[in-house]
Amino acid sequence: MRKIILTKKLNEKNYQLLQDINDIETVYVLDGNEEAFNEHIKDAEAILLSTAYKMTREVIDNAKNLKVISRTGAGVDNVDVEAASEKGILVLNTPTANSISVAEHTITLILAITKQIIMYDSNLRDGNFKIRRSGKTRDIDGKTLGLIGCGRIGQFVANKCKAAFGMEVIGYDPYIKELPGILIYEDIEEVFKRADYISLHLPLTSETKNLVGERLLGLMKPTSYLVNTARGGIVDEYALAEKLKNEEIAGAALDVFETEPPGMDNPLLQLKNVILTPHSAALSKECSDRVAYEATLGIADYLKGNTPKFIVNKSIL
Ligand code: NAD
Repeated sequence: MRKIILTKKLNEKNYQLLQDINDIETVYVLDGNEEAFNEHIKDAEAILLSTAYKMTREVIDNAKNLKVISRTGAGVDNVDVEAASEKGILVLNTPTANSISVAEHTITLILAITKQIIMYDSNLRDGNFKIRRSGKTRDIDGKTLGLIGCGRIGQFVANKCKAAFGMEVIGYDPYIKELPGILIYEDIEEVFKRADYISLHLPLTSETKNLVGERLLGLMKPTSYLVNTARGGIVDEYALAEKLKNEEIAGAALDVFETEPPGMDNPLLQLKNVILTPHSAALSKECSDRVAYEATLGIADYLKGNTPKFIVNKSIL
């Protein structure tokens, strides 16, 4: 029997993708069951991997029979791709299935922080109706959106923000020289200086770790907002908390954290000019189903001897 670990519950339609494959055994190891995970990974041939588990070099070394890691998402920062490649293990992802949902979440955060939805809601519930005159909200119309990373999600955000709010969109992406509708700058600094909103849509890598720290945050206008739906490790959270505390920037809206879940001592949790969501941008019902479908399809393709569509470490083929 070829064992497949599923770390995400599959709906009927998605499970069907595996139905016509002979000689397989599927095992659910859902969130946080480390003991079962460490046991089953020893002889599994494929794993459908959510963000709940990390495929470190050590885990990969223990996975003697593993041939495929299929991530239910775009980011593969919970997989040691180098270690997997050395062992000839295919790493798959689902780079397109969640883009629209993350873009929607990003725009929701932009709206919520600008219109102070959370702060107004909690004040109203506390009986403070007068808060309506605090003058804390702004308009979005005509403002400048600065994208750091102009790939799939960045471009969806750009198109929607232009169409819905007439925003000007500028961006920085070292791998893109030109894009219709986005003014690409060669210097990241210019984008931080000019934008009313900085929105992060780049991967977490050794180069981008803590990229957004004291220096870049220091270039932002006091009226500007930082939005991060990419990865927490891209932002130096302590530097950000200082800027927010001193009101050197207007606010931040974050879906992702350096450590997840963030520790209760994380200074960002104490600040009022921050909106936080629990890495939920890609967890809408439709998105979860789409992502699980793509990730399962990748495993099914492999088991049937076909080449999966989205291979992160193509070089090993
Ligand atoms: P993508 O690969 O389509 O786009 C990423 C872009 O970042 C690329 O154009 C790339 O050239 C650019 N880039 C790389 N290094 C950069 C740098 N140093 N500075 C600026 N740009 C750089 O990916 P995507 O689908 O748009 O996703 C973007 C990120 O969003 C992913 O890496 C992932 O970490 C994150 N994400 C988060 C969630 C969530 O649930 N919050 C879900 C999906 C993806």
